[in-house]
Amino acid sequence: MNPLVRLIPSPLVRFFARPYVAGDSLESALAVVENLQALGIGSTLDLLAETIETREAAERNVETYLEMVDAVAAGTELARNGRAPTLSLKPSSYTTDPFDAGGHADGAADAVRRIAEHARSRGVPLTIDMESRHWTDFTLDLLAELHAAGHDHVGAVLQTRLHRTEADLDRLPKGCRVRLVIGIYQEPESVALLDKETMKERMLAFARILLERGHFVEYATHDERWVRQFVDFALPNHGPERFELQMLFGVPRAKLVTEMQERGCAVRQYVPFALSWPMAIAYLRRRLDEFPAMIWLVLENWFRRK
Ligand SMILES: Cc1cc2nc3c(=O)[nH]c(=O)nc-3n(C[C@H](O)[C@H](O)[C@H](O)COP(=O)(O)OP(=O)(O)OC[C@H]3O[C@@H](n4cnc5c(N)ncnc54)[C@H](O)[C@@H]3O)c2cc1C
Repeated sequence: MNPLVRLIPSPLVRFFARPYVAGDSLESALAVVENLQALGIGSTLDLLAETIETREAAERNVETYLEMVDAVAAGTELARNGRAPTLSLKPSSYTTDPFDAGGHADGAADAVRRIAEHARSRGVPLTIDMESRHWTDFTLDLLAELHAAGHDHVGAVLQTRLHRTEADLDRLPKGCRVRLVIGIYQEPESVALLDKETMKERMLAFARILLERGHFVEYATHDERWVRQFVDFALPNHGPERFELQMLFGVPRAKLVTEMQERGCAVRQYVPFALSWPMAIAYLRRRLDEFPAMIWLVLENWFRRK
């Protein structure tokens, strides 16, 4: 880890992270979900997990997700506008042997299958987040396998920065829910675009293709200009029931959300939580190490909130 990132005192990381993390327990995260529902905003809950060092830690994460399924299923009557809470998960949370470290992700696929099975039995939609490029084939193969086994409730994420993504559109199971993002992982030029504006242009182009192919599109960006461009196209051509807008919990976009809700668009926030503050801080420190520009985004939002 970059020594500068390691040197940032934990209280400072926590201070900046607080608006983006829905607390240090499932209960605190569910309270956030309820508050969002009261504002007509849907949510997708995600457990922040640090590097998994033992099988017990991996199993604990699976068990927490099984509990999250039950909690969300029990709370779905609370959902407004038919936007029941969903869950998002990262396969790396269930293995001590991640692809990024040259491993084989032992145990990750089985863990996702168990969670998907339970989520299906409780009627809870699930999305497999997309991690670094080392996970793309694994994730798309697993998604195809789950859909072939009738797990239509499982959604995918595609990152428009990767050159391969245009071809990956053809690998998506028919009718699968798809979240489009530019991608958070800093990938090398050999496999990815480096220019954000081009990533966002591709996001709109891919959204058009996916809508035309019958997919439900989850358009996930905080870039107001691109949100409006997408909505100006999708709303008249496909109707509000074919897509939703997604943002990260804590990124201040209240005016945009109201504007989009008034236009009849559904909005969902990605709500990460941890099982303790030290876990949340370790996670955020790692994200800062991978993506130091995040500190500027956080500062920009902090001033925007003032
Ligand atoms: C609901 C949701 C789910 C996501 N799932 C995935 C996934 O599975 N895999 C993946 O690789 N990426 C995922 N991402 C992250 C995504 O790929 C982008 O990295 C992130 O959304 C920033 O890109 P942007 O399109 O908002 O544009 P940017 O140009 O990066 O950001 C626009 C503005 O948004 C604000 N902002 C953006 N990101 C942050 C942040 N992290 N903290 C604070 N403020 C911020 C800032 O004000 C910034 O100026 C997800 C994003 C969202 C919203």
